[in-house]
Parts: sequence; structure tokens; C-alpha cells
Amino acid sequence: MPQRGRIFLATPGPTNVPDRVLRAMHRAAEDFAAPAFSDTASSCLEDLAKVFRTRGRVFCFIGNGHAAWEVPLVNLLEPGDTVLVPVSGRFSQSWAEMAECLELRTIRLDLPRDRPLDPDAIEAALRADEGHKIKAVLAVQTETATGISSDMVAIRRAIDAARHPALFVVDAIASLAAEPFAMDEWGVDCALTASQKGLMLPPGLGFVALNDRALGIAETCRHPRRYFDLNFRRGEQTYQWFHGTPPLQQIWGLRESLDMLFEEGLDEVVARHRRLADAVRACVAAWAEAGALALHCPIPEARSNAVTAIRVAPDIDPDAMRRLARDHYQTALGAGLGDLEGKAFRIGHLGDLNEPMILGTLAAVELALRRCGIAHGPGGLEAAIEALALDDAAAEPEAGLTPVADDRA
Ligand SMILES: *Cc1c(COP(=O)(O)O)cnc(C)c1O
Repeated sequence: MPQRGRIFLATPGPTNVPDRVLRAMHRAAEDFAAPAFSDTASSCLEDLAKVFRTRGRVFCFIGNGHAAWEVPLVNLLEPGDTVLVPVSGRFSQSWAEMAECLELRTIRLDLPRDRPLDPDAIEAALRADEGHKIKAVLAVQTETATGISSDMVAIRRAIDAARHPALFVVDAIASLAAEPFAMDEWGVDCALTASQKGLMLPPGLGFVALNDRALGIAETCRHPRRYFDLNFRRGEQTYQWFHGTPPLQQIWGLRESLDMLFEEGLDEVVARHRRLADAVRACVAAWAEAGALALHCPIPEARSNAVTAIRVAPDIDPDAMRRLARDHYQTALGAGLGDLEGKAFRIGHLGDLNEPMILGTLAAVELALRRCGIAHGPGGLEAAIEALALDDAAAEPEAGLTPVADDRA
């Protein structure tokens, strides 16, 4: 059957790449040492610092989020150093595994999978480390596997309350440009993200931001590294910034996506994500009334603006429903990951999305639920529309209505 119309991408990465970004990338290759490119690349790195909200420095790596994960591990830590990793889902677990693999002594704090990271547990682990062997705390702001966002300010407070000098390193891959993030204000020493999430770009770039303290540590760090070495990348040449040939077209795309984020306004981008996420949650709550589905996170304020994890009753195969949605209704959903494998599905609502796209996605999911005979309460779509209508009223109480174009003319 030929597919018509747009595919609905409701995965929490990759996310939709806006047409504007695709067009901006449609360029011939060029001399990357010429000012046209090098000025654009440096403007992107400077503007990314605004997105991270830091006066520190941002580096770009050809690689995905996993590549970005490795950057602080080899630039800020030496083999044998200890790191503390609060683990609450598949992504934090994988980051901990990477740290172990790179010969860092890794203290995994095994935390509940349906709750945000517990700052008290982190504080207790740091207090127990009287000799200050722990050199860094690695925290994931939005655990994409569970759809749960944690309070990074509370974790900073926990580190301070324990009077511990550990670096605070944050995975903001699923949260940057979806949830509030303020690196300097929050006392984050190093933060990282990837291109294919809130930045609305194709996969293939990782970004890492460091403050002065972290940059200073990187200068003398003796962890063997080459491609990821930040000291080489601080040189004057574009060749050095990317440690080799720059990703030319992706940088033009990044320039466009940053322009789009600033045109909308970073706060408004976050507000839009919250609005759309509220609509998804309202819909799922209505579906859940039939007893076969449930919002994974019981704490409303910890539910992420980027992705919603929905648990299914034990007799339901969520992956069959996802396949049906993908193959018949052009709607790609996220799978349950880690402990939630085969027990949940996820609706991504991150990146270049608007109200009709979200409503279309929810309608396609409801269609797939019905086709699969999965019990769901009525009124999900209505609840989503109601949430959007209420939110819009709250956001723009004074906005006058612009008349729709008069089609009699
Ligand atoms: C997507 C994601 C990653 C991994 O990124 P890749 O680009 O797939 O390597 C890591 N952490 C979080 C929180 C993510 O959402």
C-alpha cells in the first residue's frame, strides 16, 4: 500500500526535522576554512551556550548522544577515579556501564524506576565518601526510558549539603529545549546533549558544555584520549574544533534550528512542550480509566515534557500495537526500554511539534488500541483538546482573535 501524507514521528529521538532545517542543509560542500563556514560554526557554538545558559564553552562532536557521554568521562576523569551514578532507567544505567568500561570505579545508586532521582540518597552517598574519592556525579535530567524528569537544582543542593567537591555532570539529551535548563545558575559543571532531540536536527552531532572549573580539569586530565580531547579542540582552526573535517551541512542545519529556537524564544519553546505534554497526559489519563493502561510515573510534576511512558496490563503486547500504529497508521511510537521492555510504550512529544500533530498522534494511538482490542477509557481525545484549550486561554488571556482569511474574496 503506498503511503500518503506525512509520517508521524512520536519517538523521543530522532525527532522531526523541520523543512526549514532540511532546506538549510541542502548545500554544496565548501572550503571549511573560509569565513562563511567558520563564522557560522563559531556562531553556533556561542549560541548553543545560550541554550545551555552558560558562560562556559560548548564543543561539538560528530557522534550521537553516546559519543557525548564519553566526553566528560575521558576529559574530566582518570582511570581509577570514582563516579557516582544514580540509576533510574535504561539510559542512566548505560552511562554507568560506559563509565565502568572506561575504567572508572562506578558507584551505582540503584533507585526506583518510577520516581525522579532522590536527592537525599545522593547526599547520603556523598556524605559516606569521607575521603572525597568521588570525582563526579553523573545525573540524567530526563530519563527517556521512564519519561521522568528529575530536579537538577535539588541534586546540586544535595552535593553542596554534603560539602562534597565532586563535579556535577548532567545528561540533558532529552531535556534541553524541552524542560527548563540553566547550567550556570544551577551549578552544573558539564552538560551534554545530542542533535536529534530538542534541537530538531538529524542524528549525528553531540554537544558538550563545560564551565571554567571543568575546562581547567580537562587541561591536566591524564585519561588517554585523542578524538575527544578538548584541549586540541580549543585551537584556532575549524579543523581543530571538529578534530577533522567539520560536518558542514549539519552545521548549516544547526544554524537554522538555533534561529528557530530563538525566534520562538527558549521559554516559549519549553512552554509549548509543557502544553503539548499536558494534552498527552490528559488523554492517557482518560484511556487509563479502563484499567489496561497507566501513566508510568505516579508523580504528576515529575512527568517529562519530552516523552510519556505508558505501562500496559500484563496480558497486553505493546509492541504489536506499536507495529500496527507504525505499519498501518504511519505513527512511530517508542518501545518500553530496560525494565519496561514489553511492558510499556512511549509517546515522544519532543522537538518540532504543534497541537494538530499531537492530536493526530493521539488519535492514531487510539485507533491502534481499538484495532488491537486494548481496553481504553473514552474521551481521551476530548480530554487532550480540553487541556489545550484551557492552556491556550491561560497563556494568552488578552489575545484578540485574528479573523480567518475571508474565502469569499
Ligand atoms: C537519546 C538519549 C541518549 C542516547 O543518545 P543517542 O544519540 O541515541 O546515542 C542518552 N541519554 C538520553 C537521556 C537520551 O534521551
